[in-house]
Parts: sequence; structure tokens; C-alpha cells
Amino acid sequence: MSQDKFAAAVCCIDGRFYQPLIMWAKKRLGVDHIDLITEAGPDKTISENKKPNIDIIKEQIQISIDYHNTMHVIIAAHDDCAANRVSPIEHCKHLKIAMKVMKGWKLPVELICVFIDADYNIEEI
Ligand SMILES: [Zn+2]
Repeated sequence: MSQDKFAAAVCCIDGRFYQPLIMWAKKRLGVDHIDLITEAGPDKTISENKKPNIDIIKEQIQISIDYHNTMHVIIAAHDDCAANRVSPIEHCKHLKIAMKVMKGWKLPVELICVFIDADYNIEEI
């Protein structure tokens, strides 16, 4: 197993937001790598408990935990999301519901919710 430290991020497929999120997460968590679990509009998918997508997300988080000793999982939503066309305020509501759903999974990790605005500023919710 790698000695490097990993965290995981559940984020949208939208390619504009990977780099800012990865840079922020590495600094915030002091890790070397971020395992990216992509899903179009993950705040919507998870808050609505949409199957089978949610099971696939959960399975991939578990792989990150089992093989990379991931101790932190970020769930990210972003402005101008093609898969979840709602206001930033609505995104934050979806994130809070998604957080509750994920807490119910009883994973041995810290969960962190973030919203990324159109200028790539990242705010913890
Ligand atoms: Zn998106």
C-alpha cells in the first residue's frame, strides 16, 4: 500500500472544477492525493438517494477507504451545474441533505461539504 496520504472527493463531472477542488482539498487536509469520484450533480443524486448511482458512489468511497486509508471525504457542489440547475442557496440545501444521507452510511471518515462558486472560490458548508 502506498505511504502517501489520500482523501476522497465526490464531485461533479464538470471539468472546470477539478483543479480548484483538488488544490484546495490537498491544502485543507494535508494530503498528497485526492481520489475523485465523479457524478453529474452529486448533491442532487445523493440528496435524492438516486439508485443505482448512489450505490456506485458509496462503493467507490469504500474502495478509497480500504485501499488508500482515506479518512476524509468531501462532497462538492458547484455553481452553473448542468446536472443540477438550481441556485447556490438550493445547492447548499441539497448538500446538507446529502450530508445527512452520507452520515447514515456510518463510514469511518470525516465528511466535508463544499460549494464552489463561479469564480472557483470554495466555501465549506
Ligand atoms: Zn455540475
